[in-house]
Amino acid sequence: MAKGRVVIVGGGGGGDAAAFALRKKGYDGEVVIISADGDRPYDRPYLSKEFLRGEVEQAKVYLHAEDEYTRQGIELNLSTRVTGASTSERTLTLEGGKTIKFDTLVLSTGGTPRRLPGVPDAENVFTLRSLRDSEALRQAVGACSRPLIVGAGFIGAEVAASARTLGKEVLLVEAAPVPLSRALGEDVGRIYAAIHRDHGVDLRTGTQVKQWQLDGGSVSGVMLADGGRESVDFVLLAVGIEPNLELPKMMNLPIDGGGVRAGESLRAAEGVYVAGDIAMHQHPVLGRAIRVEHWEVAKGQGRGLATSIADGDTPYAKVPYFWSDQYDVSLEYRGNASGDDHAVWRGNPDLRTFSVFYLRDGLVAAVLSMNDKETGEAGQKLIESRARVDEQALADIGKDLRELLPA
Ligand SMILES: Cc1cc2nc3c(=O)[nH]c(=O)nc-3n(C[C@H](O)[C@H](O)[C@H](O)COP(=O)(O)OP(=O)(O)OC[C@H]3O[C@@H](n4cnc5c(N)ncnc54)[C@H](O)[C@@H]3O)c2cc1C
Repeated sequence: MAKGRVVIVGGGGGGDAAAFALRKKGYDGEVVIISADGDRPYDRPYLSKEFLRGEVEQAKVYLHAEDEYTRQGIELNLSTRVTGASTSERTLTLEGGKTIKFDTLVLSTGGTPRRLPGVPDAENVFTLRSLRDSEALRQAVGACSRPLIVGAGFIGAEVAASARTLGKEVLLVEAAPVPLSRALGEDVGRIYAAIHRDHGVDLRTGTQVKQWQLDGGSVSGVMLADGGRESVDFVLLAVGIEPNLELPKMMNLPIDGGGVRAGESLRAAEGVYVAGDIAMHQHPVLGRAIRVEHWEVAKGQGRGLATSIADGDTPYAKVPYFWSDQYDVSLEYRGNASGDDHAVWRGNPDLRTFSVFYLRDGLVAAVLSMNDKETGEAGQKLIESRARVDEQALADIGKDLRELLPA
């Protein structure tokens, strides 16, 4: 078993999971988390859903009780930003100039919400990444009647659903013709467009904000590119993230596809591992490098790299999984598809209970399930099996998918 000090930069999904997994594996060296966030690690997915709607209070969003870190011998440094890193010296520099040493380094620094050019720096323009962001947004949603959400990706769509559930007159503006199409493809994206419109969201697609109207220090209205003028109470910019790659770049780690290129064991350089939104991981089952900005992937990779640190490099093979809850619609996605994969539908999209299998060279690369958990779980086994599957059988809801698995 490796010895020495493991320093983890990032107290989010990947970093927190790595620290606790190291202890679970029996690692008895020092484990140090350094996080720029002022709050101890919390469950980020709550921030666009239950916490935002006021259904879950702050005490419930933390991943562990405060004393759990002390009990596990995990040193947790909050409100501490790492500003420099050297691979050859094996040191990190903290804001303020202090230097600390590491034997093994874990980077799970997540991402920063993008801003758009031309958006005024007004007091009622929000982005959403941290617990404090969600707290501010929660107050703004509570006090508003007409929020503007710019961007209908997962965060924008989930906040739109939450605000609509609270009875707000939501204006959701998306530049692409179809919401969520980048992540889920146009056909499923169109189903989401219908779901939001059925719930009363004013969804405008294929357009963007052309002009911002300011009243004092606040945005009070916008003009859209298609000519519409709209009054709004506040703005949430939800147009994706930029992965936080400053430290990996300083350390000359290999950068690829918007992330840090890591091998099957999540190792990016000797004694340096990456997890979460910044990791471009060579996936052993999928046979290619993928970067996924989702919670379970970050946590799983944190646990996976802990195994490598504690027991020696081990391929991390778990198939990616994510979910999104909007209104009463539960989406689950397993695997990783790309645009040119062949889609096979199973179930009834009109009833919003269906799955889509994405096939590459006859193998299942991914399965998307809307309100159809059972098919999703069976689909995961098909992905893992690397078995060739019969398309007609996949599409046939009368067919038990377990029969398609190799004996
Ligand atoms: C509102 C919201 C809702 C979401 N909902 C879902 C969902 O329903 N399902 C899903 O699958 N995924 C969801 N996600 C995505 C998921 O939360 C992320 O993919 C996941 O948190 C990534 O984990 P990470 O460890 O890479 O980064 P993060 O969890 O973002 O953690 C990064 C940490 O690094 C720290 N940090 C960054 N730079 C430095 C530095 N230089 N020095 C010190 N510390 C630093 C940050 O402060 C932070 O603590 C959601 C994300 C958001 C924002």
